[in-house]
Amino acid sequence: MRSIAILGSTGSIGTQTLEVIRDNSQLFRPFMLTAHSNAYLLIEQAIEFVPRYAIICDNAKYQQVKEALAHLPITVMSGHQAIKETVTHPDIDIVLTAMVGFAGLEPTIEAIKAGKDIALANKETLVVAGEIITTLAKKHNVKILPVDSEHSAIFQCLAGEDYSKIEKIIITASGGPFRGKTSDFLAGVTREQALKHPNWVMGAKITIDSASLMNKGLEVIEAKWLFDLRADQIDVIVHPQSIVHSLVQFADGSIKAQMGLPDMKLPIQYALTCPNRVKTNYKRFNFMDYPNLTFEKPDMDTFRNLKLAYEALNRGGNMPCIINAANEVAVAAFLKNETGFLAMSDVIETCMQKISFIKEPSLHDYLNTDKETRIFAQNLIQQMPLKAIQ
Ligand code: NDP
Ligand code: MG
Repeated sequence: MRSIAILGSTGSIGTQTLEVIRDNSQLFRPFMLTAHSNAYLLIEQAIEFVPRYAIICDNAKYQQVKEALAHLPITVMSGHQAIKETVTHPDIDIVLTAMVGFAGLEPTIEAIKAGKDIALANKETLVVAGEIITTLAKKHNVKILPVDSEHSAIFQCLAGEDYSKIEKIIITASGGPFRGKTSDFLAGVTREQALKHPNWVMGAKITIDSASLMNKGLEVIEAKWLFDLRADQIDVIVHPQSIVHSLVQFADGSIKAQMGLPDMKLPIQYALTCPNRVKTNYKRFNFMDYPNLTFEKPDMDTFRNLKLAYEALNRGGNMPCIINAANEVAVAAFLKNETGFLAMSDVIETCMQKISFIKEPSLHDYLNTDKETRIFAQNLIQQMPLKAIQ
């Protein structure tokens, strides 16, 4: 029985992780659940799974959670500091990072330092500080197991393979709801249109990232660190059906792909059970339902975020941290109807030009870069008249 800490248990990945655990209750138990502000769902989850710890970041919700769980042997805490401290608990075997954005960085670092294996959904952590995370993981002999479906696909293709024989990887992208659209069309799209992903149901931030192709850009950077690759070994191809989850091409020219219906429960389960496979009753893929699997080149001129992410990866240093922070601010503003869809790329590009570049950043530098970029991006958005930027 392995004890799992689920950071962000109330989100899309968090709730699906609990479904996987419910199906495999003989293998796993949730030891710690955390939420940002959804007290109601955290309480419901804690009553069902009775973890040792339930932590809510929002201090104002602490009393509500505490009172609701008073009859159970659960320690209730609040605030980010409580997560950072509890994630190191000796009884935790694996930490599944399913919180969204930069907030995942510090708890992940603490968990690695305490020797916990990481099932990583929170890609922003590797984007921001991939070098620090991978170096720390090596030092503490910790595994970083991908939950992201594309990276899980690559990881599965690499089982039993020599990583030094990877020629390149090919990450598939659905293309999102605006595949094939022009910049003129994108200038006028609304939040509601962008939130309608054709194949996946996910949290709001990653859904907007998918529509803008920033998600693919973040995944390119995530792959660099997970599999120790150069930028020129990472290709992106648009595959609208989301059946081929990604591919690896080896030195002899052979290509391996991992396929299946789009369902995050499979990569979540594989991260928790690998290298073993555990039987599931999930719906099976049938070729007859998909007579045409198609592939096309991503349009990086219209969807500039993917190009900007490659540029950030090539420049290195704190540049990926800059694009991540700028993107988080831009997406939050877009979700509040405070900025336009295309303006998100303008904000990211301006931040890349204006924020001081640091070639070999320390953790302290990353924290400062994140802060500085957020303030800069926020001011930029406030100065942009909404009509002019659309
Ligand atoms: P959601 O928005 O659905 O959930 C996010 C979770 O994190 C919630 O539990 C939320 O709490 C919590 N949270 C939000 N902000 C903070 C914060 N500042 N501090 C601490 N906790 C916070 O996101 P997803 O589940 O969609 O995504 C989670 C991560 O997984 C992201 O990094 C995403 O890129 C990655 N991912 C997601 C996939 C998916 O299919 N959804 C696929 C691949 C990767 P609360 O609900 O209480 O606000
Ligand atoms: Mg993905």
